[in-house]
Amino acid sequence: MSDEPETCAWCGRYTERHMGAYYFGFEPTGVEAIDRILCSVASAGKAYHHTESWSEPINSQADMRSHVDLIQQAANEAAEKLRALDGAKEGT
Ligand SMILES: [Zn+2]
Repeated sequence: MSDEPETCAWCGRYTERHMGAYYFGFEPTGVEAIDRILCSVASAGKAYHHTESWSEPINSQADMRSHVDLIQQAANEAAEKLRALDGAKEGT
């Protein structure tokens, strides 16, 4: 066991605080796809107080994606999972 705290595979922050921003925080729902949306928003709020900065690259060296991109991607993936569930319900 390492002493290093567990990190979120999605946002890269420590799991014990990745739902927190400066002025707000979220409670995890326990559903990974939804929690990824929440922690993306929390990470954006933690990184920048002003939403005008949310579309800037998070790390222009390694990754040109912005917090807005991360939030959108998390939402898209959650939507895909829900659509797949709906499809499984209807398709017989
Ligand atoms: Zn996270």
